[in-house]
Amino acid sequence: MVNSTKCQNCGGMLIFDVDSQNLRCTHCSSVVNINSEMQTLQKKDFTDTSEISKSQTEYTTYICNTCGREHVTHTDSELLRCPSCGDSNLTKTNRIDYEPDGIEPFKINKQTAINKLKAWLSRQRFAPNNLKKQAKSDTLTGIYLPAYVYDFDAFTHYSGIGIKSHRRHDGRVSYSRQFFNRNQFDKMTGYIESASPSISSSKLRSLGNFSTNDILVYRPEYLYGLFGEAVKIDLQTSEKNMRRNVSNTISSAIQNKLNSTYDRLENFSCQTQFSNEKYAYVYLPIYKGTYKYNSKSYTYYVNGENGRVSGSAPRSKWKIFFTILGFIALIGGIIALATLT
Ligand SMILES: [Zn+2]
Ligand SMILES: [Zn+2]
Repeated sequence: MVNSTKCQNCGGMLIFDVDSQNLRCTHCSSVVNINSEMQTLQKKDFTDTSEISKSQTEYTTYICNTCGREHVTHTDSELLRCPSCGDSNLTKTNRIDYEPDGIEPFKINKQTAINKLKAWLSRQRFAPNNLKKQAKSDTLTGIYLPAYVYDFDAFTHYSGIGIKSHRRHDGRVSYSRQFFNRNQFDKMTGYIESASPSISSSKLRSLGNFSTNDILVYRPEYLYGLFGEAVKIDLQTSEKNMRRNVSNTISSAIQNKLNSTYDRLENFSCQTQFSNEKYAYVYLPIYKGTYKYNSKSYTYYVNGENGRVSGSAPRSKWKIFFTILGFIALIGGIIALATLT
């Protein structure tokens, strides 16, 4: 266990070093081993009274006066800009906050994240050139996003009438009706719900393939030199959202499957029941960047575990204009050639 955020050799600041997955002194580069203390997290049973735990220690919190988000750290790291909105209007406080049960530590460093972002931007055909040039280390901020991860069994009962049309020999159409009444069982592990209004649950899931089944037990050391966003959505609300989202996803998948067999459905009803629910409140690693182009804000995310990029790039009006112009010129050229011959 590391007892101090300061280096024992020189008093410098210790930060979590992504490459070695240990602590490193920013001044003398000595390494403090925390690898050996990494443990895989066991999720807790969910009940109607489950709550997430308060921390035992005081954290430094930066409250953004523009967007209201709170960012938490464990060291003297200065936060100069809000990772959510990019504004520098921040208030620093010290206070006890909720602490995650588990954490997925950053696996890729910031430079790798920048390279992934650059590669992604170069595939965006209409992205302005200066945007690609601006993708350097100050564009992205590494931040732990708060999330809930669930394991559960989902038992679904669905029924209804499937209508199918048949063309008869005389050319007229007849309909057949088939009643269905079926059950489906799904076992899910590591289902993610966002605990922050900064990012929607579907966005967080679309960032792809967090190893939610081998999340580590949280230790404050993982936060040294990094920031985590404070949890804003409570566990009970999140669990209700999870049930609604999962029920809707299962129902849509069943209807899609039925729609490939029948022409239409009547009296379709679908109910999902949940059991063996387990949960964990966790931090997931994200590099987040915001970019202003023509006074509009664009946000990018790079998955801090596997480097997957997600976001919307601004489109340069000039690039689109010249592409269309080039296309018109080409058509014009073809018509001119055709009239000449
Ligand atoms: Zn040192
Ligand atoms: Zn902000």
